[in-house]
Amino acid sequence: MTTFKTLTVKPGRLLIGGEWTAARAGKTFDVLNPATEQKITTAAYGDTPDVDAAVAAARRAFDQGPWGKMPARERGMYLYKLADLVEKNKEELATLESMDNGKPISECLGFDIPQAVDTFRYYAGWADKMYGEINPVAPNFFSYTLKEPVGVVAQIIPWNFPLLMAAWKLGPALACGCVSILKPAEQTPLTALRLGELIVEAGFPPGVVNIVTGDHVAGAALANHKNVDKVAFTGSTEVGKKVMVAAAQNLKRVSMELGGKAPNIIFADADIDLAVQGAVTAIFFNQGEVCCAGSRLYLDERIHDEFIEKFARVAKAIKVGNPLDSATQMGAQVSLEQHEKVMGYIASGVSAGAKLAAGGKSLRPTLGGYFLEPTIFTDTSNDMKIVKEEIFGPVVATKRFSNVDDLITQAHDTAYGLSAGLWTKNVTLAHETARRLRAGTIWINCYNAFDVAVPFGGYKESGFGRELGKAALDLYTEQKAVWVGL
Ligand code: NAD
Repeated sequence: MTTFKTLTVKPGRLLIGGEWTAARAGKTFDVLNPATEQKITTAAYGDTPDVDAAVAAARRAFDQGPWGKMPARERGMYLYKLADLVEKNKEELATLESMDNGKPISECLGFDIPQAVDTFRYYAGWADKMYGEINPVAPNFFSYTLKEPVGVVAQIIPWNFPLLMAAWKLGPALACGCVSILKPAEQTPLTALRLGELIVEAGFPPGVVNIVTGDHVAGAALANHKNVDKVAFTGSTEVGKKVMVAAAQNLKRVSMELGGKAPNIIFADADIDLAVQGAVTAIFFNQGEVCCAGSRLYLDERIHDEFIEKFARVAKAIKVGNPLDSATQMGAQVSLEQHEKVMGYIASGVSAGAKLAAGGKSLRPTLGGYFLEPTIFTDTSNDMKIVKEEIFGPVVATKRFSNVDDLITQAHDTAYGLSAGLWTKNVTLAHETARRLRAGTIWINCYNAFDVAVPFGGYKESGFGRELGKAALDLYTEQKAVWVGL
């Protein structure tokens, strides 16, 4: 087992203009390990003056520094170097992530860190492949379109995939020539700080990436800031709306990756064993703290009982416990607040008359951290809070269906539209249903499949703009039309 003394991150500092500095007011906050409820370290509490300094450093780096003048390929080389450094330090980053967030180390090593490496490498390759266009105008003119970086970008991220969310934000922004102020979530600042050290080691010019740890105060200061050209936000729909209002002041560009309440649909002809495994991944991966979690499971009534029996058996066998143990399959919820929130939803489901097919209890008394049992509700109805609201924990609400049109109506009975899953061997039904569902990602006979080449983002109140893939480049570029009179 890895212990904290093997880690080299120096917390308690902000990265501003290439220097590590304490918060201007000298304030700090405690960083806890949710699996032990013990303090790991302290982080600097970035406040409005720290945000002002970070924005000023970013502005200088963008307007006067070498970043904007260097060939695009050279920008890509910095990103390749960063990808290599993240890969070289993967065990340390995985340990930090596991301790800070509570997720299993096997998932950090198998998903979070390699996906972050892929993201930096993929966007490194894009840096010198962003072409403008020649526009078809009258022969007495020549006109072309340039793609230019949007400028100083504030990037505010959540706690569920801390390093990976930082990579999703920084990769495309830096490839496009933007500069960033990254604000990690207050629950999980550690891998962003270690990433900052690797960014310095990779030799990025000062001020190109600034990292301000803190909470909603730093986040709001960024969203409000007149000198920020764009805010890229990932987090809850509630906070996303506040960020949009703040961004309206100077018409910052905005992109939003928000919450979800995804339907996962099992048709009668599905490969049931495969679909059971898929439903487990859909809701219990990362302790259910996943924006695209398949938290509403719709089962054809003909296979309902068989499916629930198998699903509950697998859920009950999930190994919950010490995230640093490589055999652990589900770790701890990120915080006491999150643990209590999920327990509140479980209580509301029970009192509304839903039945528990698995789980329902806290494992905090036995395991001494914010652990929960994988929980499956049956006999739910659409007016229940557990069906309507994003729980963001290992709790799934299941429901029977008998008619596809009615199923689609129910699947759409939500403010969200981030993702959906469906399981069938019928190719026509699969593609027809994929087209009908209003969500940014549809998984057919798989769930939580991710690749940096595939765009990801929401319909409806799950947000707008697409991260990953070529699409993310649009989030960080402006188009400039140039006219020449001939
Ligand atoms: P959150 O909205 O509470 O916080 C997200 C970030 O916003 C944090 O860094 C926080 O400090 C900051 N923040 C808080 N108040 C702010 C304000 N007024 N102005 C600016 N910034 C502010 O979300 P969370 O609890 O960290 O994360 C969980 C949520 O994130 C879930 O709803 C989940 O669905 C969503 N999420 C979405 C995606 C996606 O890609 N769509 C990915 C991961 C998480």
